[in-house]
Amino acid sequence: MKIYRTAEWQARPPRAYARRSTPTLIVIHHTATKPGKDLSLEAAAGLARAIQRHHMDANGWDDSGHNFLVSVQGYVLEGRHGSLEALEAGESIISAHSGNAAANASFGIENEGCYGDCPMPDEQWRSLVELCTFICLKQGLAPDCIKGHRDFRATECPGDWLYAKLPELRKAVAINLEKIQ
Ligand SMILES: [Zn+2]
Repeated sequence: MKIYRTAEWQARPPRAYARRSTPTLIVIHHTATKPGKDLSLEAAAGLARAIQRHHMDANGWDDSGHNFLVSVQGYVLEGRHGSLEALEAGESIISAHSGNAAANASFGIENEGCYGDCPMPDEQWRSLVELCTFICLKQGLAPDCIKGHRDFRATECPGDWLYAKLPELRKAVAINLEKIQ
């Protein structure tokens, strides 16, 4: 699947590169932002830059907190530098998406939008299923490793609607994995 690397969305260099880790989970988030009307790749890249800027300048983090961003258009963009390289090597990197050490040692996926009570676009859902399938495949993880941010700390994230869809997400990933293996 196509994952846009940090260089492809003009990410800033990180303050420090993250250490590798052994993933056991996939943690699902939403950005809790209003999705834009511009459906171009450039709009998705702009969102990735805005999140990185917020995480580095407001939160004081080394880099983007998450590992991957799925835009409303269904584009998948690398977050923290080194995430894609680690994924391809069957590993993860220490990130800052969950406020929980075990969760941060595994991949965090941000989904553009606010999914408290409204559904995500089909294109975004399909990309999320594909990305989770790819991660499970590369890391030898079972679909039941897919969790929501609220499983690790007191937060609304990833929204009631998306959280309630996690069983369906696990099932869709399991079906994909059966087809591949
Ligand atoms: Zn979250």
